[in-house]
Amino acid sequence: MSISPSGREPVRITRIATAALMGHSPPGGWSAEIRPEDSIHTLIAVHTDAGVTGFGSAFAPGPLVAAAVAQLQPLCLGMDALQPERVSETLHRHSFWFGRGGTLTHAISGIDIALWDILGRVTGLPACILLGGRYRDRVRPYCSLLMTGPDRMGERIARWRARGFRAFKIGWGPFGRAGDSRLDEAIVRAAVDALPGGGQLMVDAGASDAFWPHGLKWALRTADMLAEHGVAWFEEPLPPDALEDYVTLRRAARLPIAGGEVLTRRQSFLPFITRGALDIVQPDATKVGGLSEQRRIARMAEDFGLAYVGHGWNTALGLAADLHLAAALPGVGLVEYIGGSPYVDALTAEPFALDGDGMLAVPDRPGLGVAPDPDHVARLSPDAAALFAD
Ligand SMILES: [Mg+2]
Repeated sequence: MSISPSGREPVRITRIATAALMGHSPPGGWSAEIRPEDSIHTLIAVHTDAGVTGFGSAFAPGPLVAAAVAQLQPLCLGMDALQPERVSETLHRHSFWFGRGGTLTHAISGIDIALWDILGRVTGLPACILLGGRYRDRVRPYCSLLMTGPDRMGERIARWRARGFRAFKIGWGPFGRAGDSRLDEAIVRAAVDALPGGGQLMVDAGASDAFWPHGLKWALRTADMLAEHGVAWFEEPLPPDALEDYVTLRRAARLPIAGGEVLTRRQSFLPFITRGALDIVQPDATKVGGLSEQRRIARMAEDFGLAYVGHGWNTALGLAADLHLAAALPGVGLVEYIGGSPYVDALTAEPFALDGDGMLAVPDRPGLGVAPDPDHVARLSPDAAALFAD
């Protein structure tokens, strides 16, 4: 075995395996709703010759991620797994013909997260330390809930409030889609009323959904309504590529404007950040290239005076990645936590637990500090055995 310039032996990548999560996806509120046979999140395992395996997560269907990994694996087999940015950059640069920003980038995201996990496991350090430091030991999770009509919205929030959450985001569902601004306001009012004594509330229009029916004027009117109700941010109020409308809306709106969850390359965020199109930038670590790229986007936002809050509608591994990056950046106070997803709550042997203040501890074990459990994954994926096999 060759010795690296630092004198240590490389930890070589030997195999990359995937496991589609399916059958238990929470509803997304999408106009083409997720079916039981659909997979939208796929786990990735990076195996090494040191017997250390890292795990990551990619936001894409299992068959697409498996095809992407078949393309990517030959480009990184034998590379040193303890150099996550170098491996990921190699994959980005050698796949530029084949759909950068698409499923290949989503698959690289899962590989990159797994490499940071390996680096932590081998060095004995939690990922946040490797990513730059540990500014905090706990982070507030906001509970992300699908909108319902006003009659059930309050009860849904109260149920998750009883489980300890203090911050909430409601989105998609009927909001904006029924063409009834009074209904939209009634939903928001029901949510506010369910938070007596305070608690953060965010609203997500989900305008990246297919055939979103509104434009800038709707977004301006709705932003006014949400500001009146003390909503903490207005997310995806416009279709995701409407850069100039976002710039106009952000300048006019009295509440912060958030977005970016469907932008899938660091470079796609550049105009939104440099033009000041968003108050809060929301890349998803399981789409944009993993922790390596997510950190660069968050730093870029910071340099322009914008906030970063990761989009975390994915899995326990995505949430762990978000927690570590939130800990490693000076000013990040929130992570997204899906209310009611087995892919977050039932993937690991030890589920996440909120403390009495509604906060989540940043894992302090090596790497991500959170690992998928073979028996648990077997209930959520037909590919569990292949994921864990050496
Ligand atoms: Mg969203």
